[in-house]
Amino acid sequence: MSSSEFVVALPPAASLPIIDSTQRFPVGRIFCVGRNYADHAREMGHDPNREPPFFFMKPPSAVLADGRDMPYPPHSSDLHHEVEMIVAIGVGGSDIPVDKALAHALGYGVGLDMTCRDVQNVAKKLSRPWETSKAFDHSAPCSALRLATALGHPTAGRIELRVNGDGRPQGDLAQMIWSVPEQIAYLSTVFVLQPGDLIFSGTPAGVAAVQRADRLRARVDGVAELSFAIA
Ligand code: MN
Repeated sequence: MSSSEFVVALPPAASLPIIDSTQRFPVGRIFCVGRNYADHAREMGHDPNREPPFFFMKPPSAVLADGRDMPYPPHSSDLHHEVEMIVAIGVGGSDIPVDKALAHALGYGVGLDMTCRDVQNVAKKLSRPWETSKAFDHSAPCSALRLATALGHPTAGRIELRVNGDGRPQGDLAQMIWSVPEQIAYLSTVFVLQPGDLIFSGTPAGVAAVQRADRLRARVDGVAELSFAIA
């Protein structure tokens, strides 16, 4: 491939480290499930029995590496945290059956679906899309990934976030409305899943605002930890 093949330089590739490995996971698309925990759907004013979960996306440019500061987005004054288990797709496919879906999951980590709640509320009111509230630069802080070969496929475990050391109410992976295999199966009916795709599997209840200089520490028990500061 000659240096003149592309008319501009290739964009930088986002990638995540893998725990106990020197290799990295290249991040392609980021799919995020909304309202996948009943208590969170209720805290946002929705009835989880009437409105099923749904997906939206962030670009790979949203990834923020573990330990790096997240700049407070200048277009918002109500930045919220949503702590979520992330699922790394290692094997692509389409129309994947639920009972075969976990074979496509390479590993797991913890991430934050950082959300400009004020911008999102305006978008909801005006029936506009969510990119400026959800898909902005640095809106997806992600931990290193733990491989399923070492971990298995977690179906339960505490998911929690601490802000400046204080625990915020969070939940357990077992409370997901759509399980990870169901998320993979559904997504694969809409998109041809590709190695490098990442799924944010939804936040439990307890979302709240963060301020400049706050230190956030997220973990999914037995899976991974992530820490960063708001700059
Ligand atoms: Mn979310």
